Amino acid sequence: LFGKSILETQIDIFKKYNIDKICVITGYQKEKINQALKKRIVGIEIMTKIYDEDNVFAKILKAKIPYEKVLENKYALAFNDINPQAPIHILVIPKNPYTDLYNFTQNANLDEIKCFWELVNNVISKKVIEDNGFRIITNSGKDGNQDVPHFHVHILGGKNLGRMIN
Ligand code: 5GP
Repeated sequence: LFGKSILETQIDIFKKYNIDKICVITGYQKEKINQALKKRIVGIEIMTKIYDEDNVFAKILKAKIPYEKVLENKYALAFNDINPQAPIHILVIPKNPYTDLYNFTQNANLDEIKCFWELVNNVISKKVIEDNGFRIITNSGKDGNQDVPHFHVHILGGKNLGRMIN
């Protein structure tokens, strides 16, 4: 199913074949479309990027793998990075599935966005790094060398972090 206009004009076909669950996916993702059709997904969702349900942070959110929790609130979770690059290296992630900062800012509601940044600030307070300073990094996509495709920010601190990019 490619695009809204096709969806709108084909609604009778969906009724005819008793398709009550529709997934609209932008871009050509044959496997994902086949999966969506097999599962007969409920509702309509327009995605700019496909969220990988099996990524490591999705597993953390489902408590399928262990992690060291720092803090959480209704919409966000903070935990220690498994491979710290500084004395303090904490990841903050939204609980809902967003691929990166752009995707999060475009699609999350204001409550989620507020909760996310509140948690970032609460981590900064908890670790008492507001005075000495810290660095927040978010990597996105190929050029940003993002490894885990679930939006996250790195909070780094506890020492002088040097120049921004080596
Ligand atoms: P990215 O390159 O996507 O911005 O950063 C991903 C971060 O996730 C890396 O700093 C990496 O060490 C961290 N990471 C990867 N796998 C795990 C894991 O299983 N648990 C935790 N706590 N951190 C992880």
